[in-house]
Amino acid sequence: MKSITVLIPAYNEEQVLPALFERLSTLADRESQYSFEFLFVNDGSRDRTLEIIKHHAEQDHRVSYINLSRNFGKEIAMIAGIDHVKGDALVIVDADLQDPPELIPEMIKLWEEGYDDVYAKRRSREGETWLKKFTSKQYYALLQSVTRIPIQEDTGDFRLLDRRVVESIKQFRESQRNAKAIFSQVGFNKKEILYDRDPRAAGETKWSYVKLLDLAISGITSFTTAPLRVASILGILVSFVSFIYIIYLLVRPLFGESTGSGYSSLMAVILFLGGVQLLSLGIIGEYIGRIFNETKHRPLYLVEQYHASHKKAKK
Ligand code: UDP
Ligand code: MG
Repeated sequence: MKSITVLIPAYNEEQVLPALFERLSTLADRESQYSFEFLFVNDGSRDRTLEIIKHHAEQDHRVSYINLSRNFGKEIAMIAGIDHVKGDALVIVDADLQDPPELIPEMIKLWEEGYDDVYAKRRSREGETWLKKFTSKQYYALLQSVTRIPIQEDTGDFRLLDRRVVESIKQFRESQRNAKAIFSQVGFNKKEILYDRDPRAAGETKWSYVKLLDLAISGITSFTTAPLRVASILGILVSFVSFIYIIYLLVRPLFGESTGSGYSSLMAVILFLGGVQLLSLGIIGEYIGRIFNETKHRPLYLVEQYHASHKKAKK
């Protein structure tokens, strides 16, 4: 019998967990030709999330859980879970029921047909502002234009991964993670299915605009070093234009033209160059910061407790 692990990162999700358990177990009961594992990663929740998970684990032998020592963020919670997957396939779902578990059977079907990475693409993005949709669109267009790796748009972490993709992802140990970039980079046989993303069932989103900006920057830096090249290209352009201008300045007095006062033009050039230099330094700094963080080689996460489902041997 093939086994499927459903990975659910959860941070302060006490309000939605009962409904989630309900829907997950309905699904698992219906798909009885597979054995299921529900692997919860409690990401340092400050509410009763862990208590509820433990309570269910006592009654339901399919429930496993990892309790992280503090809040690490969803990206890290996911790799913690991925390191502990026992199934032949893995499905990642959000705890807040925005990823309908009812889609899982369709994913499994495609997996059985031989696809390794069946990802759910949002058909609509209801309940999101015009600004958020627009910025997201531009961001993906920009990102796609600088990298050769195909990037899946309007796709989150909701997907089914075959065991071999899971094993590949485990080898990506960077500490500033961007799951989307990693899913794209590993490649394998991908297949999309469309769905309508539901609004959050209860509770609040954990994403602020500041965090989204951080995610966007980490997305770029984990895909590509192209921004570093932007700094070089700007440097070359500015030097070239300045060179021509200097020649012009040298030649001009020969024809009897006066040099005249140049406060405004000087100011403009100085400010422009200052801006370009600061921007370039910022871009370089962004990458150096990442190098700094990676060279520390710290563990990605710390586990306070791991409870495994079944009696099956750990992999
Ligand atoms: N999450 C997490 N750690 C965090 C923040 C979020 O494990 O620090 C989980 C959260 O419990 C949920 C998923 O990541 O299962 C997505 O979070 P959320 O719904 O807040 O994000 P959104 O759907 O708004 O993008
Ligand atoms: Mg959500």
